[in-house]
Amino acid sequence: MISSNYFSDNDDLNLQIDQMIDWQETVGIYENDFEDAKKYKESGDEKLANAPSSLQEAVDSYKIIFESIGEIMGKTVAPKAKEMEAVGLKFDKGKVTFPPSMVECYNVFRDAGLQPYSISRKYGGLGLPAVTQAVAMEILARGDAAFAIAIGSVNLADTIERFGSAEMKQTWVPKMASGELVGAMALTEPNYGSDLPGVQTKAEQTPDGKWKLNGTKRFITLACGFNGAPAVILTLARTGNPTSGARGLSFFLVHGDDVQIAGIEKKLGLHCSPTCEVVYENTPALLIGQEGQGLIKYAMGMMNSARLSIAAQSMGIATAAYFEAKKYASERIQFGKPIDQIPAVRRMLDRMEREVTGMRCLTLEAARTVDMYVWRTERLEHSGLGEKEVRKDEHVRKWEKLASLFTPVSKYYTSEMCNVLASDAVQIYGGAGYTEDYDVARIFRDARITNIYEGTTQLQIVGAIGTVTAGMAANGHLRTYINDETQKFSQSAELKKVFAGFEEIVTVYKDLKNAGLKDTLAFEVVESAARYLVGMLMERSTAKLSGEAKQKRMNLCQAYHIDSQAILSGNILKLKLSDAKTAVPA
Ligand SMILES: Cc1cc2nc3c(=O)[nH]c(=O)nc-3n(C[C@H](O)[C@H](O)[C@H](O)COP(=O)(O)OP(=O)(O)OC[C@H]3O[C@@H](n4cnc5c(N)ncnc54)[C@H](O)[C@@H]3O)c2cc1C
Repeated sequence: MISSNYFSDNDDLNLQIDQMIDWQETVGIYENDFEDAKKYKESGDEKLANAPSSLQEAVDSYKIIFESIGEIMGKTVAPKAKEMEAVGLKFDKGKVTFPPSMVECYNVFRDAGLQPYSISRKYGGLGLPAVTQAVAMEILARGDAAFAIAIGSVNLADTIERFGSAEMKQTWVPKMASGELVGAMALTEPNYGSDLPGVQTKAEQTPDGKWKLNGTKRFITLACGFNGAPAVILTLARTGNPTSGARGLSFFLVHGDDVQIAGIEKKLGLHCSPTCEVVYENTPALLIGQEGQGLIKYAMGMMNSARLSIAAQSMGIATAAYFEAKKYASERIQFGKPIDQIPAVRRMLDRMEREVTGMRCLTLEAARTVDMYVWRTERLEHSGLGEKEVRKDEHVRKWEKLASLFTPVSKYYTSEMCNVLASDAVQIYGGAGYTEDYDVARIFRDARITNIYEGTTQLQIVGAIGTVTAGMAANGHLRTYINDETQKFSQSAELKKVFAGFEEIVTVYKDLKNAGLKDTLAFEVVESAARYLVGMLMERSTAKLSGEAKQKRMNLCQAYHIDSQAILSGNILKLKLSDAKTAVPA
């Protein structure tokens, strides 16, 4: 792996941070008039000592955090990623042992105080908004995806922060922030993966009002804890009868010492991330929030953050694929010249560059929608407003709709593209890419999970299709958002053509004569939405640039729009031909 600072060596990421993210908006909504800094002045509470008291201080502090993560990931972790993977995990009598070099790297990272990046300052975390969490995860995952998961796991505490009782927050969150406990999320069961409403792990209340769980969960990352630090396992379990569906599910906090780890999976990739089978036998559990809201509210809330985190993880893996391939292609000589001068190889590298740039724009925009929705909701709830009143707030309604569109779209798009780019990287390395001599084989293996876990691509499409089609109605949230955002720059003719294609496919889809085709062809519609949104966001990102930098980025945009026009034309044709072929004659 390239050895450098994985933040400062990434020009596009720096450009995003310096010129493209609207920090006024993000910091404004997250810091809430810099209330943590004010509390620090009043109380002297050391946990709030680093709270920013101005916009500039906030952005500077984020950059220091990115620099520090970039330094450790690029110079300490990435060089050891191959070795860690080769050693892998050991499982014996319910205990998992991690590679010694992974434990060393983990300790360096934790001791630097960088781990609890999404936990609030008052509980000992760094208190970063979603946009900055996404950047942190990108840098982490570029270094090593399995390591990134272990580090990021403690940030599941944000679910306890959002939905737990005051006592629960005080008891558990600080321990996660300090690394005494790690985090795990237990939803999947052997018979229920995508079909989460069917989950059957049983929760029963004893006469003294306490809860106990019985059942088995499968594929649970880090349920075994990390190197002696047990996990807090956030568990979805049934409080209703077996056929009560989603409304019969509740959410529980379980201590990792109270379950049995029956085994870990042997996997295609992520060899240093334990994927555990977890057995609950009269396991004590604490109810989070209200009964019956487990899947509908709490697990969905947690999964939405986790999906954004996978989009950022995909971003990081794709960035690693691109940078490693670019470096190799500049050094490998064939036919008397570096292979990056051969058009067929150049073509792959150019596509990787524009896709990585576009994916980053999309992921950061998805994070923006989450910031705009989540923190406002939290403030209103803390001000004493009831759930119904909060949901009437115009700002919350708008950004909630956009977050529920951007989260599945970004998770689907970046994870699929991450796979394409990881495959391109192997291709650019030729035969060497297929060996274990370089890191791209591991990158390729690790990429493959991103479009499966936290909801497969197919499930993201199911989640996105309704918000895309409804959103494009005359006053729909997506159309309004597009109108607002395209005011911020002068659109190119090519982008306008992609938009026209996107509008057409939505119309053709809504008018399908064979309604039975709607599920089958939803992918083409969501793909077209993603292509338009990525292209639009890439162009929007040129607004503040000038000169050569602007021209370079516009060139990327134009090449991206050409790809999009070809894809959208194909998609429109596919919808029309499929409908004509299967429509029942009148
Ligand atoms: C390495 C790893 C780590 C994981 N970590 C965790 C974790 O920490 N916590 C946790 O709870 N889970 C975890 N999972 C589980 C993961 O989230 C599930 O594997 C995933 O959601 C898919 O469920 P499944 O494997 O049961 O596949 P299935 O649900 O059986 O799906 C099989 C195929 O059918 C498709 N499909 C199913 N239903 C539909 C539908 N309605 N519409 C369209 N297509 C559909 C899917 O897209 C897929 O292609 C992990 C899995 C892995 C491999």
